[in-house]
Amino acid sequence: MLQSSEPSFRESVDIMFNRAVALMDLTPGLKEKIRVCNATYTVRFGVRLRGQIQTFVGYRSVHSEHMEPVKGGIRYAMSVNQDEVEALAALMTYKCALVQAPFGGSKGGLCIDPRQWDEHELEQITRRFAFELAKRDLIHPSQNVPAPDMGTGQREMAWMADQYARMNTTDINAKACVTGKPLNAGGIAGRVEATGRGVQYALQEFFRDPHDISSAQMSGALEGKRVVVQGLGNVGYHAANFLSEEDGCKVISVIERDGALYDPDGLDIPNVHDWIQSHGGVKDYPGAAFVEDGATMLEQDCDILIPAAMEGVINLSNADRVKAKMIVEAANGPVTAGADEVLRARGCVIIPDLYANAGGVTVSYFEWVKNLSHIRFGRMQRRQEEARHQLIIEELERLSDVVPGWSPSADFKAKYLRGAGELELVRSGLDDTMRQAFQSMREVWHGREDVPDLRIAAYLVAIERVADSYRTKGL
Ligand code: GLU
Repeated sequence: MLQSSEPSFRESVDIMFNRAVALMDLTPGLKEKIRVCNATYTVRFGVRLRGQIQTFVGYRSVHSEHMEPVKGGIRYAMSVNQDEVEALAALMTYKCALVQAPFGGSKGGLCIDPRQWDEHELEQITRRFAFELAKRDLIHPSQNVPAPDMGTGQREMAWMADQYARMNTTDINAKACVTGKPLNAGGIAGRVEATGRGVQYALQEFFRDPHDISSAQMSGALEGKRVVVQGLGNVGYHAANFLSEEDGCKVISVIERDGALYDPDGLDIPNVHDWIQSHGGVKDYPGAAFVEDGATMLEQDCDILIPAAMEGVINLSNADRVKAKMIVEAANGPVTAGADEVLRARGCVIIPDLYANAGGVTVSYFEWVKNLSHIRFGRMQRRQEEARHQLIIEELERLSDVVPGWSPSADFKAKYLRGAGELELVRSGLDDTMRQAFQSMREVWHGREDVPDLRIAAYLVAIERVADSYRTKGL
């Protein structure tokens, strides 16, 4: 996929980092300290499966410990390697700094094709991997807190959390050792949708300012904008679904492993998602054109392109044919450093990964706080809030005697009376986080003439915060 002239993923992140620090007043020593990955642990372990010992290779990389615990997902894929894990760990450091989640950056991976193993086998493999990591404090509520990533989800997180708890039977905070757990195993409402929801909030925030919208050669609201989504996994599905159902975007193409779907009037995302779940791909989906060479749809004329799968999909081999006015990096590293330059030169606005997909780790942060506080968000105040709202409604209803023909509408009453539950609070916290992070990026983007794009702005804000933390607490 990548051209041989292109740097590796880790080098690509380094190039972006270097472009940003060149604009900063940091000592060379501090720049280097922030850039490098602190440590990467490689583990090879055997599991007896199908009558023989199978050996697996896994990694957990810690990029920066300026704040602890360090945080980041664990990926299950055959393509996992040290370079990739280190690139992803570095992105986690900057992502957490940008959205002010109080963590350093980390990432893990296991070289495995999860589709090759049944559930029971995956549980044995996951528990053994978790054991190896926990033994070295690479899973630990106050040291290193994994989460889902490509190829993993709630199920794997539940196994890991349970494995840690078995090894640390007296740790009252054991549940906070991983995030992205199922609700009944210490998870939080809204974590599954969080990354996709964050993509939606990021776009909503961008579309609040006419000046920003015109910088992306567009006008008007999100409604009616033509969107192409690559990868309808957890992130891509939720982003596509919220943007089409709630913001009126037209998702004209969905690109999957086996090809792409195209419908200029907009696809029915829940339907396409159901089809993929039951048929394993998009082929033969009725009601939309099928494009065999799916990757060509990355080059489709559209307003917003959302790569939500792998790194490196927009690279030097296709960047000059990508026509989208705006790219939202829902995946980590989908645009290579070389492609980034090509796209910038032609005026394409890129909402960078460290901001665009930060919804996941933001809600992970809320889950970790919930686990440490041992109480569900909203449990103390919800009914009290409802009771106070009831008082206002009663007062308003008394007014209807004074102003004949007037009374509060039933819709207003229903909405106003309902106190916020955990899901509403999580969404509100996420929305606030995405708005604040965008504004901190935007200030630098527009406020400094030497800052050409949002990616450099995001890196500047993030690196400055990491540098600040090293300055105040020492190395
Ligand atoms: N794997 C996700 C990411 O790349 C989530 C990380 C987390 O929640 O810790 O941001």
